[in-house]
Amino acid sequence: MHITVIGSGYVGTTIAACFAELGHDVTAIDIDEEIVAALNDGRAPISEPGLEEFLEAHAGERLTATTSYDAVPESDITFLAIGTPSNADGSIDLTALEAAAEATGESLAEKTESHLVVIKSTVPPPSITYVLEPAVHRGANENEHIEIGMNPEFLREGSAVSDFLHPDKIVYGTHSDWATEMLHAVFEPLFDDHDAHVVETDPQTASMTKYANNAFLASKISLVNDLGNICKEFDLDAYEVMEAIGLDDRISEQFLRSGVGWGGSCFPKDVDAIIAAAREEGYDPALLEAAVEINDRQPERLLDLLTDHVSLGDARIAVLGLAFKSDTDDIRNSRAIPVIDALQARGADVIAYDPVAAEEMAERFPNVDYTRTAADALRDADSALVVTDWAEFSDLDEEFDAMATPVVIDGRRCIERRDGIVYEGLTW
Ligand code: NAD
Repeated sequence: MHITVIGSGYVGTTIAACFAELGHDVTAIDIDEEIVAALNDGRAPISEPGLEEFLEAHAGERLTATTSYDAVPESDITFLAIGTPSNADGSIDLTALEAAAEATGESLAEKTESHLVVIKSTVPPPSITYVLEPAVHRGANENEHIEIGMNPEFLREGSAVSDFLHPDKIVYGTHSDWATEMLHAVFEPLFDDHDAHVVETDPQTASMTKYANNAFLASKISLVNDLGNICKEFDLDAYEVMEAIGLDDRISEQFLRSGVGWGGSCFPKDVDAIIAAAREEGYDPALLEAAVEINDRQPERLLDLLTDHVSLGDARIAVLGLAFKSDTDDIRNSRAIPVIDALQARGADVIAYDPVAAEEMAERFPNVDYTRTAADALRDADSALVVTDWAEFSDLDEEFDAMATPVVIDGRRCIERRDGIVYEGLTW
């Protein structure tokens, strides 16, 4: 098939590269000329394991990129993977997506064959019916050959390529059998060597499935963190307790690692958005609100543990890890942001290290010293906070001895060395 993917951020670039790998012809469209140039050169505009290999292999052949929407009518199907950031009240800002939806419609106004426009972005169910479908149809001048579908994306940053090619489930939210078959034709090559559940439903249910999925996972982590904090109060190891409860099939062993909390571009935004959408309908989502509150408290708890050992007013604190999780350079809603904010508010000097995310964080916090290695950060620090679970942190050993007061507060349970330093785990 010929597929157009509009928006080449984390999701758009990943799915464009993977669709090309699956054998489709792909045109990636983005308004950002630098992203387009990178894709055409076979370079990944984001850091994501395996992505550059696919781009190198397919750029200029099965995958091309452009800033123009001209390729849309030539293609069989179009995916919209535009960012949907939060408004100040937590609701979703649909401005960019609505503009792209309308522009997609405009490019299809003269098309005389059927064309499916699929929303990949995460949007609240009512906005499909009341904002996005009207935008496409308005742009297309009510061309009856254009149909809308929803295909929510469940990939995780840091393992985006692998997640996309090995999904647990694929959700087709459509209005017709034809649209379902179109989506199935796109994903069919993926089933050659991988079994995935396919859910066939309507667009609004597909969209709610995405929110329910993320709200459930974020709440599970907050529950695990709440229980973990209680374990810490009792001087118990939360990981031992969670390993035991994970043996219960109803709970499952996944997502039981307590720590400094969830971040990234999806969980915070999606939980806030579904809370805002529920409130708009007059419903008070009390459990989801508590999940957010617990998450907001975890960075403060990390600092409270540090201040049990160190006075922050004249201290230089190393923050190890800036990305919201390992294997990505994404700092959106990283827990490192409230941690650095709170350290600076309490008068500490911050020195920070991350293998890939320092440049991004330097734009947010220019008044932090960034180092090239974890060892460099520790050498210049009094004490350290571990905020992201990069694998390389588990190898740190004598590097800790270089600190003036070797206190390490681990927010992710990734430090192996525990002897000879003051070591505190957040929930263990
Ligand atoms: P992103 O911000 O990384 O990328 C969006 C891209 O769209 C940018 O490159 C931007 O330049 C481009 N863009 C904006 N307006 C445009 C227009 N009119 N025409 C063409 N391109 C335009 O966003 P993302 O992280 O890829 O997320 C996209 C959507 O997917 C969001 O709704 C998000 O919630 C959802 N999602 C994200 C993830 C994730 O892990 N990042 C996972 C699942 C779902």
